[in-house]
Amino acid sequence: MSADDVLALVREDLRDFAGYSSARSSRLQGEVWLNANESAWANPADADATCRRYPDPQPEALRAALADLYAVAPERLVVGRGSDEAIDLLVRATCEAGRDAVLVTPPVFGMYAVSARLQGAPLLEVPLLDDPGQGLVPDFAAIARAAGGGGAKLVFLCSPSNPGGQAITLDDIAALARALEGRSLVVVDEAYAEFSDLPSATTLLQAHPNLVVLRTLSKAHALAAARIGAAIADPALAGVLRRCQAPYPVPTPCAALAVAGLSPQARAATAARIAQVRSERARLAAALARLSGVRRVYPSQGNFLLVRFEDAQAAFDALLGAGIVVRDQRAAPALGDALRITIGTPEQNARVLSVLSALRPSTAVPPGMSDAAGGGGR
Ligand SMILES: *Cc1c(COP(=O)(O)O)cnc(C)c1O
Repeated sequence: MSADDVLALVREDLRDFAGYSSARSSRLQGEVWLNANESAWANPADADATCRRYPDPQPEALRAALADLYAVAPERLVVGRGSDEAIDLLVRATCEAGRDAVLVTPPVFGMYAVSARLQGAPLLEVPLLDDPGQGLVPDFAAIARAAGGGGAKLVFLCSPSNPGGQAITLDDIAALARALEGRSLVVVDEAYAEFSDLPSATTLLQAHPNLVVLRTLSKAHALAAARIGAAIADPALAGVLRRCQAPYPVPTPCAALAVAGLSPQARAATAARIAQVRSERARLAAALARLSGVRRVYPSQGNFLLVRFEDAQAAFDALLGAGIVVRDQRAAPALGDALRITIGTPEQNARVLSVLSALRPSTAVPPGMSDAAGGGGR
């Protein structure tokens, strides 16, 4: 499959779209810049006068730092406001409203469906399979069938998956990309890749131009408020996505913080935090699995655990009563008894455990029993 075939997956009306021609993207040289209606003087709050001018649309130092971090060529990168922006760009650049579909694998991160809805792209859902040993895993045969039959331009895989926590092997990703070659882009959202035992899918990009990998500094790199994420894609596709972006998507203070946050010292600190999260994850998972009110702890490759409870409402309320807020997953199909708990500090995890161990054995009435009792008139 060549780059031309990948561009064939872009919306026809956007294939030669040049995007906004910003003051920073023109190739002019000079010393006195009077072309962008910027202020000639700095704001007093802007001590080092770094914010007086519009930023480089793809700040060079940040691009270089991310290319090094992910071991990819800079021309494959689209840097933006979190991976959320990358998701939105992919949907807008490839899906024609009312025609081209987006395929998702629920229960999964909600932004894929939100972006599809905003674009008017039909949503195809192929639920994850609940394997007693492995946890929530994609049904690859059903995905390939549904994507082909339903005209999906985009197939979103989440690895490690939020909220399930399971990661997908490179063999499975490569096989799906091959099966959908020329028809769909396979997007692997690796927001939690740093916490996983499995390698990143970036090594497959060369062989599979219809593959896109999403990464973010929001989770393992502890920079959620800086809003820095990236799509890593075929260079020609990356060019299209950049042209679809807002004119100056990366604020200068955010880029500066991200570059500092990727210094060798900062990366060493990140590696230490990741190691701590992984050991706390193992400890918390084992301890939770021993509690009487816990039905199941899914094996997780992320910085969170998906846990099924005998009485999820009681667990949620008890945690909230102790000031601990966890994610209620019960609205998700097939997770009617589940909460997602982020791995915290050892002290925070100990608090979670102490609250949940104090839960009294469930007195909840099994579903349907109260109705049956009422309806039966006894
Ligand atoms: C948190 C999360 C993101 C969002 O990342 P940002 O870079 O902060 O936009 C993307 N995908 C998944 C699966 C997430 O859980």
